[in-house]
Amino acid sequence: MPGHEGVGYIHALGSSIRNKFLRIGVPVLLPFATCGTCTPCKTSHPA
Ligand SMILES: [Zn+2]
Repeated sequence: MPGHEGVGYIHALGSSIRNKFLRIGVPVLLPFATCGTCTPCKTSHPA
């Protein structure tokens, strides 16, 4: 569920980036991973 993710635009790229979709100025969304097994995740509070 959206709410705690990071969002923004790519401002710079490292020289090791090979993904053709990642270019300066491209909007990005940074979701977080959830384990689904700990107490916060089980009570619907994964963030
Ligand atoms: Zn968890």
